[in-house]
Amino acid sequence: MKPKLGIFSLTGCGGDQLQILNMEDQLLELVSRFDIVDFQEGSSRKVEGDIDIAFVEGTVSTEHDLKKLKEIRARSNILIALGNCAIEGCIQAMRNGETTLAERLKDVYGVEEGFFDARLSKPISEYVNVEFSIPGCPIEKEETLRGITSLLHGDSPPYYSYPVCVECKLNEYPCVIVEEGKPCLGPLIRAGCDARCPSLGLDCIGCRGPVEGAENFAAEYQMLLDKGYTKQDIMNRLRVFSGELSDDFLGGEDDE
Ligand code: SF4
Ligand code: SF4
Repeated sequence: MKPKLGIFSLTGCGGDQLQILNMEDQLLELVSRFDIVDFQEGSSRKVEGDIDIAFVEGTVSTEHDLKKLKEIRARSNILIALGNCAIEGCIQAMRNGETTLAERLKDVYGVEEGFFDARLSKPISEYVNVEFSIPGCPIEKEETLRGITSLLHGDSPPYYSYPVCVECKLNEYPCVIVEEGKPCLGPLIRAGCDARCPSLGLDCIGCRGPVEGAENFAAEYQMLLDKGYTKQDIMNRLRVFSGELSDDFLGGEDDE
């Protein structure tokens, strides 16, 4: 019996499912190893019943999302948050601390709360237990493939407990903060992309979300402050892909 695999979308751009579809060289091998019971962007086939592994991308942004997520959780043995929307809320949640849902509906659509089936966008872990996460906006193909094959062998997907800076230094790329004063978020962001942006001379904009314990990478964070960026500058950048972070996420004093 092949393990049953479901790949589901809540509210989001669908870019993580697209990354799986983009694995052209491995896709046939991959689908031959699983019974794919749901894959919105890949097939119209839908099979009810229990699932061994469920991947869920997107945020919970509607009542419909929440109902769907709870149903997926109830039928899944392992549930994996796929991409930063599902893990941290990402772009959809980046201004959650600034305005209420009612204010947004009024500003954008000119309607009162209740007109749409809308909720404030939240990551899936706000509502259900999640066994593993595969980060990124969008996810990395190689990392996802390694994650899926690890699960097939009863192992855990890769987990990065260190920041992008480590991969940057292992590759001996010049540091764009030190050399060019660019506001690179590499000190605070999960590794796993092999420091793609610094490899091209660009600053990391944080698409993989904050590394666990980012608040403890004090020396690297201090580099950004020493270059003249304020804590607010850094928080604004971090929130683009990391969603609803509290103002004291990085500790320290607030800006004057
Ligand atoms: S701050 Fe950016 S450029 Fe500098 S070492 Fe870290 S990831 Fe590389
Ligand atoms: S360097 Fe940063 S922004 Fe670029 S791919 Fe990696 S995590 Fe994303």
